Amino acid sequence: MSLESIPQDLKSLRACLYCSLIKSFDHFEFDGCENCDEFLRMKNNRDRVYECTSSNFDGMIALMSPEDSWAAKWQRINRLNKGIYAISVAGRLPANLVREMKSRGITYRTRDVSQR
Ligand SMILES: [Zn+2]
Repeated sequence: MSLESIPQDLKSLRACLYCSLIKSFDHFEFDGCENCDEFLRMKNNRDRVYECTSSNFDGMIALMSPEDSWAAKWQRINRLNKGIYAISVAGRLPANLVREMKSRGITYRTRDVSQR
């Protein structure tokens, strides 16, 4: 797929491959992911943002009150921060990072619902 076919404003939006939080590339680079930066460490690391987020995602859910949202439970994101989340995110975290997370007891499940 050619990136040139995507409008400029949408092109900069990316979804976290771990929790599916949607933000602009700049926000991921500036703040990291509010949920995952402890282990994804995207803050101030452009290469990491490219590795750990995807511009190829489907659907958006606004998560306003994570505690009692049925959508949040469905997406397994009821313990996460408020924000906009993607329903499906295409792509996978790098294998070395998944291994590192696993050694810390963090299980990674792909957010790509097209992969069964
Ligand atoms: Zn995240």
